[in-house]
Amino acid sequence: MQRTASETERSLVETARSVLPAGGFGNVSHDIIVARGRAGRVWDVSGNEYVDYLLGSGPMIVGHAHPEVVDVVQNVAALGTTFFTNNEYGIRLAAEIVAAVPCAEKVRFVSTGSEADLYAMRLARAFRKRDKILKFEGGYHGMSDYGLMSLAPKRAGNFPQPIPDSAGIPKSIRDEILVAPFNDLETVASLIREHKHDLAGIIVEPFQRLIPPAPGFLEGLRRLTQENGLVLIFDEVVTGFRFAYGGAQAYCGVTPDICTLGKAIGGGFPLAAIAGRADIMAHFDKSAVGEEEFLTQIGTLSGNPIAAAAGLKTLEILKRPGAYAQLFKTGQALMQGYAEILKRRRVSARVLGAEPMFDVVFADREMKDYRSAKGDEAMLRRLNSLLRERGILKSESKHYISLAHTPEDVAVTLEAFDAAIAALLQAPAGNSA
Ligand code: PMP
Repeated sequence: MQRTASETERSLVETARSVLPAGGFGNVSHDIIVARGRAGRVWDVSGNEYVDYLLGSGPMIVGHAHPEVVDVVQNVAALGTTFFTNNEYGIRLAAEIVAAVPCAEKVRFVSTGSEADLYAMRLARAFRKRDKILKFEGGYHGMSDYGLMSLAPKRAGNFPQPIPDSAGIPKSIRDEILVAPFNDLETVASLIREHKHDLAGIIVEPFQRLIPPAPGFLEGLRRLTQENGLVLIFDEVVTGFRFAYGGAQAYCGVTPDICTLGKAIGGGFPLAAIAGRADIMAHFDKSAVGEEEFLTQIGTLSGNPIAAAAGLKTLEILKRPGAYAQLFKTGQALMQGYAEILKRRRVSARVLGAEPMFDVVFADREMKDYRSAKGDEAMLRRLNSLLRERGILKSESKHYISLAHTPEDVAVTLEAFDAAIAALLQAPAGNSA
């Protein structure tokens, strides 16, 4: 069942190992060099085919190389690729975001989700004139010094002290971040009481990685932040335009003050955004808030016309009747199929997440926060490797579903999953190649 690697692919892997730290770009770490994608599938340089649930880590929600997206990209690229001025596509994309996303009154574009989160936290601090931000253990808010606090702590720290996830983060940043367990309103309320003179806002993934918000949790955050004059930031880099056209805030019916968007809105190009209340977003406008309160923000490629045009076309496709119903139907078929296979084969594991994104977690208990949702990671790595050998590509801890995945893709995947689980049970501690 081992996939075959061509001479070219082997040589590329060798070059990668000699010129790239850890032999890679820092993203997925295995040695598959993807050459092309189409709809719900990708092919590596050696010609092996995969059903693709990695989806570029989420942006390719309408599928790879969607003909309408490719067409608009080619047309826009032929007119010049970046100008550092306003452009029509960026303006139209901002207008579409304002129309679609409940909290969005104004939009500022950047190139990555990390930047969007960094500026969203800075906005909250500028608006409230306080320094501290509360985040949740296991919440992903990009790679900034602030974001990389208790994202994936190796040891259980004491709340609310953050644990830096990276070398090189100044010690002083630890004092500016408070960490609480996801889905724990009581801890949030007591931290707000204790830090109410220093706290600027709360940043949260409405679905934290794959963990759904408990009933009332997001509503509770909304109430507590409103009562205490704090800025509520939803990180919708993943969930934006994925759970619903208006994002998780529309899906859950809770409107934050600002949100960050990425992935889907760039249609596969580097584009992300901060969107929110006009009075908070006014800090990006010197003429509105004055020199002292102005939040300086410039980016060479912000609102790039090709990225904006690709994003706009992606949103147009997502907005068509039945798109989300189809996305959810595909996700449901896979989630249900996986759950049945795990049950039939008596595996102690759960399918965690929601239809547009989910994964298998090798643990069998209620999963409500970072600690309780942590499964056997060696088992998951082994499963991922067994799936790759059977032509299924996914990220380390997620399946992303696209509009382009077909019932045949689902059938092929369920068959591969069943075989991979059988192989896993035969050699659970096996080496994950
Ligand atoms: N926030 C969340 C919730 C994310 O999942 C990610 C990326 N996986 C980011 C922010 C950062 O986005 P980017 O990789 O574009 O910097």
